[in-house]
Amino acid sequence: MASAIKALHNKLQQKEISCVALVQEKLDQLKASDYNTANYILDEYALNLAQKVDQKIANGESIGLLEGIPFGVKDVYLLQGTYSTASSDLLRKYKSPYTATAIQKLLDAGAIPVVKENCDSFGHGSSNENTVFGPAKNAIDATKVAGGSSGGSAVNVAKNFTTFSIGGDTGGSIRQPAGYNNVYGLKPTYGKISRYGLMAYASSTDCVGPIAQSLEDTQIVLNVMSGADYRDQTTFDSTPVSDKSLDQTLPKGTKIGYYKNFIESDALNATIKADFKAMLTKLEAEGMEIVPLDFFDSSILVSTYYALAMAETASNLARLDGTNYGVRTTGKDLKEGYSITRSENFTTETKRRIVGGNQVLSQGHSEEIYNKAQQLRQQISHHFDEDFKKVDVVLSPVTPNPVPQIGNNLKDPMTMYLSDAYTVGFSLGGLPTLTAPLAMETGVQITAAKKQEAILFTCANFLKQVL
Ligand code: GLN
Repeated sequence: MASAIKALHNKLQQKEISCVALVQEKLDQLKASDYNTANYILDEYALNLAQKVDQKIANGESIGLLEGIPFGVKDVYLLQGTYSTASSDLLRKYKSPYTATAIQKLLDAGAIPVVKENCDSFGHGSSNENTVFGPAKNAIDATKVAGGSSGGSAVNVAKNFTTFSIGGDTGGSIRQPAGYNNVYGLKPTYGKISRYGLMAYASSTDCVGPIAQSLEDTQIVLNVMSGADYRDQTTFDSTPVSDKSLDQTLPKGTKIGYYKNFIESDALNATIKADFKAMLTKLEAEGMEIVPLDFFDSSILVSTYYALAMAETASNLARLDGTNYGVRTTGKDLKEGYSITRSENFTTETKRRIVGGNQVLSQGHSEEIYNKAQQLRQQISHHFDEDFKKVDVVLSPVTPNPVPQIGNNLKDPMTMYLSDAYTVGFSLGGLPTLTAPLAMETGVQITAAKKQEAILFTCANFLKQVL
């Protein structure tokens, strides 16, 4: 699939379509859709911006590549003046006082947000069912889940309701829904894109990233959003991924690693396993060097991730007590007010994580659980450092199982947590990792060493050609 951004840009520039008509078409599609991807449709906001783009074109001015391109925003990003709900009751009527840096950069480039997208509440989930707006539906089979937490974003891209969308990935929330809906989804190196204005889930792994139908569009959007931001001290300056990275293919002898225990696990679906192995055979025949690697058991990755993610989200969500943000229910005193507000307005899954997180951090347990998880995280990071001395990229499935039916995850949260087995480890390592809709039903995950986004694109381009 070629770049939809470039195709639309040319049409706009050559006056084959007006920006207002383009934006209106997306708004109409979103309104008519029953995929339940939209928390709020930004009619007035988007049409206003579209008129300005049309005016510019009418005046004979040239427009930038992203100018007038409609995009979606996961409903955990602040966009000044619009509702930002995190798919929760607590923030259902909360209006953003300012705009997130990543979104602001896209606005500055002229892109037009058309929708705040359904997602799991506060990013808590793997299916987009933990939302007060009702589950988003899978783009390929509407009886199945959209994936989570950035489900609405992935479905909008897959259905072409948005040209691209901005998801958020703490432990897989861009990569997994991208895989479930057959589109590209990138989690960049931790710190490559500012988190300022993204509602924090687990601050130490939260990442901003693009979801798009093509590698080209993924790269364009990534480059626009990247860079140091004084408002997020974990960000760094980075060189843009060049267009060349997308044209090249991998040279013969490139070392492609895979984690043996991921593939040998009994928990891995038989078809996904067979497809993964067939992919390796093909790549070997193409002259690649396939390197089997040892790694931590995926249950250790899941436990480590959830211990830390719950601890961080319990701390981050402590600010939502009815005082400063969103809904407030008063009680007989301040303390009761806090407790009613939080009990009534967080979802069951979010409360499970707050309770779990506070347990992990509490006196008498923190040494045993939280500190141990931190130590494990360091060992995992160290393991990755060593692995990427031996290989150029690591390939893995995105998920151990095919896309679940709507309703299954809600019955069994443990199964849902285990569905993150292959994504959370790379989040703990802060590594860049890309889902490409290739090879397996839920896609292939391509991972590289920190700051090596370019090779992800080259590898995906190569896989696209040979598979
Ligand atoms: N499914 C994982 C979780 O629930 C990841 C979510 C995310 O990346 N926001 O924590």
